[in-house]
Amino acid sequence: MRRVPATLEIIPLGTGAAFALPDQAQSGYLIRAGDSAVSLDLGAGTFNRLLGQIDPIHLDAVVISHLHPDHLADLLAARIYMAYGPGVGHPLEVHAPPGLMERLEAIVDGDSWAGITAHDLPTGGGVLERGDLTIRHAEVPHLPPTHAVRVEHGGRSITYGADCRPNDALAALADGTDILVAECSFGTSEIPEGAMHMNAEAAGEIARRAGARRLLLVHGYPDVDREGAVRAAAGAFGGPVEWAREMTVYAA
Ligand SMILES: [Zn+2]
Repeated sequence: MRRVPATLEIIPLGTGAAFALPDQAQSGYLIRAGDSAVSLDLGAGTFNRLLGQIDPIHLDAVVISHLHPDHLADLLAARIYMAYGPGVGHPLEVHAPPGLMERLEAIVDGDSWAGITAHDLPTGGGVLERGDLTIRHAEVPHLPPTHAVRVEHGGRSITYGADCRPNDALAALADGTDILVAECSFGTSEIPEGAMHMNAEAAGEIARRAGARRLLLVHGYPDVDREGAVRAAAGAFGGPVEWAREMTVYAA
């Protein structure tokens, strides 16, 4: 029987970076409330985990934050499920930066993409109403364009920063959010000159500026000092911090 959460919650399907720990998947997050559900990103290893939580025909939308492969690779698996498997007749509504389908079709040329209906995310940002969820998105500095996403329901919110370097747009989008999911590629190390990712201190600083209630760190590379990163992020934030655990329910 399908579990119906009463309040807004997030289940990290995968929290790894572009290469990950042996037991990690790449980026993917299921956010749901009541009968409404969205997936933010579908990196490698996340679609099978999604199947363990919800039949994808019940997803109101999938939002792909940007076109790096570790955030979208499992659309290749989703396509099969929706075009030839149990999802036939229920195409997945995918919102992504322009160019998604050209990239996917370059990998699987000439095969059926009937299982996916793709929509371009508008430049700068916007808002989608899907089911009982309000989905706000805003561009953040990373591979242009990359969208951070905030999902709201019943006065609660969860904000996913996608990949990004330190910036003002994420702090603004996450204003007063209950849970901020922030990337921490570099852990306790300095952010290299020109890099488009964050470290723990930067993630904590954005959580502090946003007035977030709680910070979940994700997208750390395998060699990151995880305990040190939590201390550094908590020092900058001043609120509760932990590394997001995959397949764990976090209620907003
Ligand atoms: Zn990226």
